[in-house]
Formats: sequence, structure tokens, C-alpha cells
Amino acid sequence: MVPELATLREVQDLDTRIGSLDRDLAIVPDRLAAIDGEITGARGRLDATEQELKEAASTRRREEGDLETAEAAVSRYDDQLLAARTNDEYRGLRKQIAATRERISGIEDRILALMEDMDRLRDDVTARTREFEAIRSEFEAKKAEVREEEQRLRAERASLAEKRESAAATLPADLSARYERIRKARGGIAVVVTSDNRCGLCSVRMRPQSFEEIRIGRKLVTCESCSRILLFDPPPEHPSE
Ligand SMILES: [Zn+2]
Repeated sequence: MVPELATLREVQDLDTRIGSLDRDLAIVPDRLAAIDGEITGARGRLDATEQELKEAASTRRREEGDLETAEAAVSRYDDQLLAARTNDEYRGLRKQIAATRERISGIEDRILALMEDMDRLRDDVTARTREFEAIRSEFEAKKAEVREEEQRLRAERASLAEKRESAAATLPADLSARYERIRKARGGIAVVVTSDNRCGLCSVRMRPQSFEEIRIGRKLVTCESCSRILLFDPPPEHPSE
């Protein structure tokens, strides 16, 4: 029985390490997605600024079109002014000219403001492009690290799984089946190492007879409460001074 107990302990250790690797591997997609989120976020900030610049340019083109139309109107009114035959007609044209010139002045103010906006937006696009490039290269490097780590974890898992299989193969079939049954039912832990007379996991005190049996290690003892297999491993004694 003794070597089987040692094997059970080894299989449990390997299963625990494999379980921990599986948890690390399971979060790899989320880690990669979070990194992609950083890159997408920087790209989105750049896109939004580029879009703002495009809209400002398009507004400016529209204002310039309006300006051209208004200037053409003024020169048309000027021509008509020369040909005016009545005072009323003359005054009416002068009024229209004044109103159009006022409109022109408003358009010119808006164009100037748009030009300033566009200068600022061009600077923003330059800054955001730099930011995006920096974030992309930084986070692509992080992604490569995560992928390398994933490869390492997979390789380690494969090697542990191999060790686990060959260790488990030396166990008698009924013991191996029992181990698997308890492990599945008990959250992945079938073997508990304890250093006193309590179950190392659920802390339930064992009967003196059971404690004696696990201490000697010649018989398989299970916890009366959680039914895990108990193994005894006393803590190292403090060296006497
Ligand atoms: Zn227990």
C-alpha cells in the first residue's frame, strides 16, 4: 500500500499543477482581447480626430462656396446699381449690398475660425497617430509575450500530463477509479495531506484509529466528512539549538 499512497500523492500534485495551468491557459483569450482593446481604443481616438478634421474641412468648403455666391451677388448688385433708374431701386440695392456684405463678413469669420480648428485638429491627428503607433507596437509586443507564455504553459502542461498518465498507470484500476471519482466530486482534490489528526481540507477531526492508520501509512484512509483520501506528512521538526 505504501508506494500506492505515494503515487496517489504524486498524481494529485500533478493534477493540481495541471489544474492551475489550465486556469492560466483559460484566461489567455481574455488577456489577448484586453490588449486588442487598448489598440482598438487608440485607433478609435485617432479615427475620431481624423473624422473631426474631415468634417471641419467639409464645413469650410461649404462656407467658401457660400462666400463665392455672396461675393458674386454683391458684384451683381454693384452692376445693377450703375443701371438703377429710380432712387427707390438704388436704395433697395444699397440695402441688399449692405446685408450681403454683412453676411460675407460673418462667413469670413467662420472660415477663419474653421482654419484655426483645422490647424489644431491636424496637430491632434499627428499626436494621436504617434500615440496609436506607440500603443500598437507596445501592445503587439505584449501580445507576442502572452502567446509565448501560452506556448510555455501548453508545453509544461503536456509534460505534466505525460508524467501524470504514467504515474496513474501504476495504480491498481479500482484505486485509480476511486481517486477520479473523489476528485470529480470534490472540486479537483481527492488527496489531502495533513500533519495532524484533522483533514487538511475540511478540518474534521479523525478518529484516533484512523489517525494511527494514516500515520503508519499502510492503509488507505478517507476523511469521514469529505471522503478525500488522507495522507500524513508531519511538519519538519525545529532543529534544537
Ligand atoms: Zn475532509
